Amino acid sequence: MFWPAIALVLAGALVALHFWWRARYRAEEKRAALSLQRVAEQHSQAQRQLELRQDAMLNGMTEGLILLDREGRVQLSNRALGRLFGLTEDIHSRTLMEALRRHELAALVQGLTSDEPVASSEIRISTPAERWLEVNAAAILDGAGQSSGVLLVFHDVTRLKQVERARKDFVANVSHELRTPLSLIKGYVETLLDGARDNPEVAGKFLHTIDRNADRLRLLIEDLLTISELESGRLPLQLQPVRLRELVEKVLADLRPRALNRGTELRSDIPELTVNADPVRLEQVLTNLVDNANKYGRPGGHVFVSARSAEHQQVECSVADDGPGIAPEALERIFERFYRVDKARSREQGGTGLGLSIVKHIVQSHDGRVWARSEPGKGATFYFTLPVASRTQQSAGSPPEG
Ligand code: ADP
Repeated sequence: MFWPAIALVLAGALVALHFWWRARYRAEEKRAALSLQRVAEQHSQAQRQLELRQDAMLNGMTEGLILLDREGRVQLSNRALGRLFGLTEDIHSRTLMEALRRHELAALVQGLTSDEPVASSEIRISTPAERWLEVNAAAILDGAGQSSGVLLVFHDVTRLKQVERARKDFVANVSHELRTPLSLIKGYVETLLDGARDNPEVAGKFLHTIDRNADRLRLLIEDLLTISELESGRLPLQLQPVRLRELVEKVLADLRPRALNRGTELRSDIPELTVNADPVRLEQVLTNLVDNANKYGRPGGHVFVSARSAEHQQVECSVADDGPGIAPEALERIFERFYRVDKARSREQGGTGLGLSIVKHIVQSHDGRVWARSEPGKGATFYFTLPVASRTQQSAGSPPEG
């Protein structure tokens, strides 16, 4: 009786132990599964974060980028690349030729070797817009020196190219403009030395031509120096409150003797307006515009300078003439350096072709705008804006004397 009871209790205890172990095992199993799940979640979160960071880095770049795998197929590319080449489709897994259709790029990649794993080149693309790209290609080598892919980076160097082209054009134009009066001076001096000086009438005429061309050279050099000063920012603007009416009247008074030669009448109607400007530069703007209106207007014509308050705390000033005006295709270009509608006419008037580009430079450096309107046959009007001097500026600074 005693033993069976003990056996029963033991069996009961064993069953209880079994269930306890099972429950504990299950709980452990559940805990392990939960922590595994947590680790997996953390891992995929970290992976996602890494991908997001990689995406942000790749797509935040201004340079276009392509990564090719060992087979030469696109493994990775960024948004900038799509923008530069105007790509509309996914290029993943395509060959470089299929993706970008540029033989020179395929040749660049094929030329990479373990001895020369880096190469660069420049390409011009015409769609979606004309651009110049500098391409740097680098082979990705494994430990054994074998290529396991290629990285291509595309820099947009269009702006640099344009600046370079403008610089070359400028140098060519300056050389040409300097050479013309210089050759004339040299030619006339040689003729004088060869005997023309013995004929006082001829000598007088030649000396006048030499004098006129020397003046042209001087004006050209002065304008070139002004442009160089403005561009280098060596002479910063001396901004101060300037009373427009007084300055315009001074400019008109200075130019009146010259206008009289062509019978041009110079008039103005300027309300009481004070602008925040560099008075010396502003005088240069007004002088250039009024002088042009006199030079290119009709003989016996009228030049009228006016001004009004405009929106955004600006003053709009205009210089109008009643001359032959400017054709629409020329109107778009007259602010370019050395652009003249009629070269011979400009030279005859002592023009350098730089006046309006100086005007544009000065106005823009005052945060203003300059433009021209013209109806051929009905004159031309040049407009520019300048910031109004604030009340504090007006009370702090004393306006220049007229
Ligand atoms: P320039 O030294 O030749 O006068 P600008 O830069 O001052 O050079 O002017 C460029 C060209 O714009 C001039 O050569 C002229 O053909 C044209 N132009 C400028 N102002 C006028 C105007 N008021 N009417 C007609 N043409 C003008």
